[in-house]
Amino acid sequence: MRLILLGPPGAGKGTQATRLADKLKIPQLSTGDMLRAAVKAGTPVGMQAKAVMDGGGLVSDAIVVGIIADRIQEADAKSGFILDGFPRTVAQAAALDEILAKMNMRLDAIVELRVDEKALLGRIQKRADETVKAGGAVRADDNPKAFKVRLDAYHEMTAPVSAYYAGKGTLKTVDGMQPIEVVSTAIDGVLNG
Ligand code: ADP
Repeated sequence: MRLILLGPPGAGKGTQATRLADKLKIPQLSTGDMLRAAVKAGTPVGMQAKAVMDGGGLVSDAIVVGIIADRIQEADAKSGFILDGFPRTVAQAAALDEILAKMNMRLDAIVELRVDEKALLGRIQKRADETVKAGGAVRADDNPKAFKVRLDAYHEMTAPVSAYYAGKGTLKTVDGMQPIEVVSTAIDGVLNG
């Protein structure tokens, strides 16, 4: 199964992608996680991406497409994968189509989590509070100022990605405002339906 989870920042893509990855025994490929790992490791990509990410902007298409092209060719992705945070621009979606076509692969489903945007900042703040309580480090972009930039980037660059897949007839939508378990069940429903 090759899946994409779409939705604004804080919609719960990461949470649901993790659950699906466990259930389906396929890897969760989060470009955000991969970029944060690159920042932490101080790689050239990480050094280039850090300031953009901290401010809430989008890293260049070339960088993330390169990361994903390499990653989906690894052995563990042969039987499927869940993309979380990619594609975030129509150019990334088109590049993904090309990469998959070359590999003779196709996507099985694109699932969009629909959420009430007024709730998103609260969710991000809750994640930051819980991280502090657990003794972890809060993401540099989980603050109101960077969040506003992330949401603007979503509207401008990522919302058109939903239209791109809707135009191909492959987009499914799920109400992301429900409790985690209920959202998971709804995703199972659209995947099996
Ligand atoms: P969220 O979905 O909560 O906004 P992510 O962890 O998916 O967070 O991404 C964090 C940051 O990493 C983004 O704000 C952006 O700077 C960068 N990033 C992640 N994926 C992409 C992508 N596909 N294209 C461009 N930038 C990306």
